[in-house]
Amino acid sequence: MLTDQAVESLGAHVTREARILEASIEATQSDVLMLAATHAARSLPSATKAGNRKALRWELQRVFEALMLQKPAYTQIRLIGKADGGRELVRVNQMEGEIDSVIESSLQRKGGRYYFQETMAMPPGSIFVSKVDLNRERGIIVTPHQPVLRIATPVIDDTNAIAAMVIINIDLNILLRDVTPLREGGFVVLTNTDGDYLYHPNRSKTFAFEFGRTDRLPLEYGVEDRWRTWLGALEEPKPVHFATPGWMLALETVSIDAASAETRRHALVLGAVVSQARIQSQGNEVRAHLYLTLILVCGGLAVALGAATSFLTRPIRSLTEAANRIADGEQDVTVAVETQDEIGVLAADLNKMLDALKEFAETKELAALGRMAAMVAHDLRNALSSVKVNLQILERNRRDAGGAQDQQFEIALGQVRYMEDILHTLLSFARPETLRPDWCEMADIVRTATTSLLPQAAEKNVAFEIEDLAPLPRLWGDRAQLIRVFQNLTVNALEAVPNGGRVHITGKLVAGERGPEIMVEVTDDGRGIPEDIRDRLFEPFFTTRTKGTGLGLAIVKRIVEDHGGVVGFHSRVGTGTTMTLSLPLQGTGDGEGEDEAA
Ligand code: ADP
Ligand code: MG
Repeated sequence: MLTDQAVESLGAHVTREARILEASIEATQSDVLMLAATHAARSLPSATKAGNRKALRWELQRVFEALMLQKPAYTQIRLIGKADGGRELVRVNQMEGEIDSVIESSLQRKGGRYYFQETMAMPPGSIFVSKVDLNRERGIIVTPHQPVLRIATPVIDDTNAIAAMVIINIDLNILLRDVTPLREGGFVVLTNTDGDYLYHPNRSKTFAFEFGRTDRLPLEYGVEDRWRTWLGALEEPKPVHFATPGWMLALETVSIDAASAETRRHALVLGAVVSQARIQSQGNEVRAHLYLTLILVCGGLAVALGAATSFLTRPIRSLTEAANRIADGEQDVTVAVETQDEIGVLAADLNKMLDALKEFAETKELAALGRMAAMVAHDLRNALSSVKVNLQILERNRRDAGGAQDQQFEIALGQVRYMEDILHTLLSFARPETLRPDWCEMADIVRTATTSLLPQAAEKNVAFEIEDLAPLPRLWGDRAQLIRVFQNLTVNALEAVPNGGRVHITGKLVAGERGPEIMVEVTDDGRGIPEDIRDRLFEPFFTTRTKGTGLGLAIVKRIVEDHGGVVGFHSRVGTGTTMTLSLPLQGTGDGEGEDEAA
């Protein structure tokens, strides 16, 4: 049962992450189409006047940069012309968050590259997706290895002739960096359909084929036959689990070229790898007890047969009864045997397992919900981001032309931003980001969070009263996530108070059970929280507001708990609410040690 449980949750994990990966790659396909349709991309290749070329180039650089800001995994966006041996017309690079446009004299000829030739031979509107290969600069492999995927589409000019192409390079390391870590403690890999590692936490195993080595997943785990059958037999490979003596693997295909007829040529495989040792040791313990008990019980029965057996059979009967109820699918079963003998031990084991199963059922439901939310939110967000970029371009073109429709564009953009906000919340709940802790100042966190909400506060004539938090010691935590905590609490407070209400924030240092803690309180004089909903406040999707998502406090709770802290509140209907956070100075475990080692 324990093994099944682990396998199932691993499988769900890779499936979800594979779908997210597919969604981001699909979004890039719509991004290249969008870029290829812009006025600047279509006009630049045939523009002749120097001034005109300069203006178009400048406009296109701004568009590329705007898109890159949203997509940290895009390392290059280029417009490559057909003329002059495939001369690059615009090229914007992104490296470690630095975005820069390459000057004209440094642009290169790409006519000889396979992606250029293949893309230029395609009909307009089609998408070229490369295989994943290693990034090379001037023919030399860049280290550390950077697996890149190139997505391109032809660009037509005003006479509908193919005059150029738009191409985006994606760094898969950056996309995979955000994969949620496995609860089971294993790791995630990405391979091609031959099983060559393209992404592996141990970078020296990747792209072995480039260096004449044979590190391959099927070979490493001894599952070559099953691998071949899995990928070969089915039209549409389904997720699989392989259990090997030492390991458990969950694999899922990622199709990166949905439009292509020979999709399979391009599929990737996302895998989760976990050691069997931990799961088995739990199972073994239960099994050992079971055998021992069986032997003893049988022996005992034989001896006691005919004598006063009710002493033995009563606990056994209640065990059997419990087992039957579990088999019938009942979840709230507890075994009521409290004897000190082997039967008591077995009963305790069963109870332990039941607890684990119950927890599993709950997390499974939440995980399914989260998976769905992640998929929906991700798809919608990608669509929205291209709507937004398009609106921005349209708006600028209109303004240049002296158009009078600015207001409608503002409204449309405002709505897009609102939807992005909701999706962002949904996504950060469904797919929590890993903690990136550093030393943070509480004063800075609270200031940043409240400053971002000044417009909403002004609307309601609310003044934030923030006590001086600067004297508080620094805290080891994830700044961005802690800012989100205070944004959520402040938004809730703003929503609860009447016009002209007040929101008060204080902080102090207190002695916690395991060392010093910072205790911050956010107090409002709003409507308060009715008694009957207090238990459900932190539940995901619980809301009393028509436009609420009910995720604000669920996210707050998770972030605070990830930091080893506690969140609580007290409230009086009609008087107001105080939300209280206590955060240990070093609640995320690692801290100074890591800093010093670095
Ligand atoms: P949402 O804000 O989307 O409804 P939250 O998880 O942030 O979701 O809050 C859940 C519910 O808790 C709210 O709908 C509201 O009823 C209640 N609540 C939260 N904070 C406050 C507050 N400061 N005052 C009154 N009610 C609150
Ligand atoms: Mg809220």
